[in-house]
Amino acid sequence: MVTNLLDFDLEGLVAFCEQLGEKRFRATQLFRSIHQRGISDFSLMSDLAKLLREKLAKHAVVHALPVVSMHESADGTIKWLFDVGHGDAVEAVFIPESDRGTLCVSSQAGCAVGCRFCSTGHQGFSRNLSTAEILAQLWYAEHFLRRHLGLDERVISNVVMMGMGEPLQNYDALVPALRVMLDDHGYGLSRRRVTVSTSGVVSMMDRLAADCPVALAVSLHAPCDALRDSLVPLNRKYPLTELLDACLRYLPAAPRDFVTFEYCMLDGVNDSDLHAQELIALIRNHPHKGDKRKGISCKFNLIPFNPFPASGLLRSSTERVMQFAKKLSDAGIVTTVRKTRGDDIDAACGQLAGEVKDRTRVTHRIQLQRQTMPTKATGPTHHE
Ligand code: SF4
Repeated sequence: MVTNLLDFDLEGLVAFCEQLGEKRFRATQLFRSIHQRGISDFSLMSDLAKLLREKLAKHAVVHALPVVSMHESADGTIKWLFDVGHGDAVEAVFIPESDRGTLCVSSQAGCAVGCRFCSTGHQGFSRNLSTAEILAQLWYAEHFLRRHLGLDERVISNVVMMGMGEPLQNYDALVPALRVMLDDHGYGLSRRRVTVSTSGVVSMMDRLAADCPVALAVSLHAPCDALRDSLVPLNRKYPLTELLDACLRYLPAAPRDFVTFEYCMLDGVNDSDLHAQELIALIRNHPHKGDKRKGISCKFNLIPFNPFPASGLLRSSTERVMQFAKKLSDAGIVTTVRKTRGDDIDAACGQLAGEVKDRTRVTHRIQLQRQTMPTKATGPTHHE
């Protein structure tokens, strides 16, 4: 059986190498060659002994995901559509800013949560991505961008698990991928710069705090259960009180001393002054278990909705968004409004995989791509 080495964190790779009779330091060298140098061809890993390279060629591959398409926006945002087989495709988006480069990564093909305002949610769920498929997005993007921008150093400084899918519903594949992102022999990202965004899978928030605490973003979108039930169906299983309790339990382990609440601004649905007041009360008055403290240390990120026909929802006006932001800020809650990036290539939040919904069209594009590109991994190697 041939093993895809993108499926392993460092400890997993050490165990794999031990099966081949190789020592830990060889696994570390191999790990660095794959993730830091972007090499997929074992014969080019010149620091490894020839015998090991031969063994690896027999038993392993570094198999990236075939790229269906790449679009670059006028603002520098780049969106890739990756083929994950059986007519499914997932997207990753690179967002450059003056002080950082952020990659938005997908964790599932489709999503089972079914949020009303999310085009991925409207597609339904296809399957979980493997660790290799999650990491392949970062591996490809990082090494492609270095070549594209002519840089030798790291380009991606931040990863947000905010692409397609609910990452905490694919926990077992997610955690090894996060470990590779954080590993100094891998991508060496700070825990503060790796964010898992969840719609509120409470049980897994507790596990993440114990296993691999990174920055946490919670998709809130409503100040009360009745409204949140209708926007984020998972709320029926984990209502707001439980979700906010889980946020409080997460904070002591978190690399930042606040939780980011994402709030998609929907015209006439959740964007009134009254909603803002309810939200402030919800956050300020939430009781701590076991003592008399109240309130949650948090920031709000207001997201202008990107309308798509099946949602039946509209974007709040800019004035409404600013008024809502002012209400929260005046109450002492740090509030930002997400800049819309990559609008011209449908890379804005909630637009991811808008085309994937149409399976026929995606399958056609994958077939076209196969006719013009090798079907094997299209990932970069250091010499390309
Ligand atoms: S917003 Fe996130 S959790 Fe909700 S349906 Fe979309 S991808 Fe799934």
